[in-house]
Amino acid sequence: MKEFIGVIEKLSKKIQRQINLMEVCGTHTVSIFRHGIRSLIPSNIKLLSGPGCPVCVTPIEDVDRMLYISKQPDVILTTFGDMMRVPGSNGSLYKAKAEGADIRMVYSPLDALKIAENNKNKRIVFFAVGFETTSPLIAGTLFEADRKNIENFYIYSVHKLVPPALEVLVNTEELKLDGFILPGHVSTIIGSKVYEFIPLQYKKACVITGFDADDILHAIAMLLKQISDNEPKVEIQYKDAVKPDGNPKAIEFINRYFEPADSNWRGIGIIPKSGLKLKEKYAYRDAQKIFSISGIKVREPQGCKCGLVLRGVKLPTECPLFAKICTPENPVGACMVSSEGSCAAYYKYGRS
Ligand code: SF4
Repeated sequence: MKEFIGVIEKLSKKIQRQINLMEVCGTHTVSIFRHGIRSLIPSNIKLLSGPGCPVCVTPIEDVDRMLYISKQPDVILTTFGDMMRVPGSNGSLYKAKAEGADIRMVYSPLDALKIAENNKNKRIVFFAVGFETTSPLIAGTLFEADRKNIENFYIYSVHKLVPPALEVLVNTEELKLDGFILPGHVSTIIGSKVYEFIPLQYKKACVITGFDADDILHAIAMLLKQISDNEPKVEIQYKDAVKPDGNPKAIEFINRYFEPADSNWRGIGIIPKSGLKLKEKYAYRDAQKIFSISGIKVREPQGCKCGLVLRGVKLPTECPLFAKICTPENPVGACMVSSEGSCAAYYKYGRS
């Protein structure tokens, strides 16, 4: 660890200006806090947290649509635990469950498929949230559903793709980014080549890294070296897990069931081709097609700055509701719900 800190200090002195680096992975956000990384590096290196938590970037309208679907006849709605607590315009899925809707928390989409298998007279909808790490698992579940001929299983996909969001962030003038600490888990699936447009078109440094303190400090040192030498490129620090082409089998499986589609990101808006929708030949599994959802009026929580936090433009502590009205026990916005959300991480580790 000392070795990397030494290199970082030397390079930051040589560069002699503020350096803005952004991590776009919730696990990195938490790890940076847990290991006190900000206190170990010179003050001219600013670490910004981007939209790295899939629960946080799911817009309120999708939560509202899930609430609507959960109230339809013969529906069992299933999703991951964090999604249950995200406030919609009129309460969360937890609240709807308490009011009588059949909403079940699952640890895997395969658990949801099992519920479908055991409840043939019901329609089981899985609220599929996540980045490229989760989508192969959903594709695998759809394969299983067809293999076992389970007809009453549907998914509502709000899956997001990381590279298109990076392009939006790199073009966000107020961030003045110098480089990205790129996600380890997502990159095991999609590889490193998909990020090459960032140094080539935008001249920004990129390092894919792992999750412990040494990994992150090593990545920062590598980023500073690229910046100091004015040689931006994509480097892999997390070499044991990430290959340039990623995991071709997982990619092939995703592509079998899904295709890129424009997608709405909380706080960012619609990013072209940044989501995954089911291909037309699997429309019989698509909850967005099975349930006609209309007339939903979205109401954003008053005062919540999640949008600005997710773009790295504001710190959670700059939100007037932070730690006063909004806490992990009583979240106002999605960024306080998931443990990987920036507001939750700042609440747990960043209040001194
Ligand atoms: Fe939203 Fe709460 Fe974060 Fe403020 S502290 S931005 S209200 S989630």
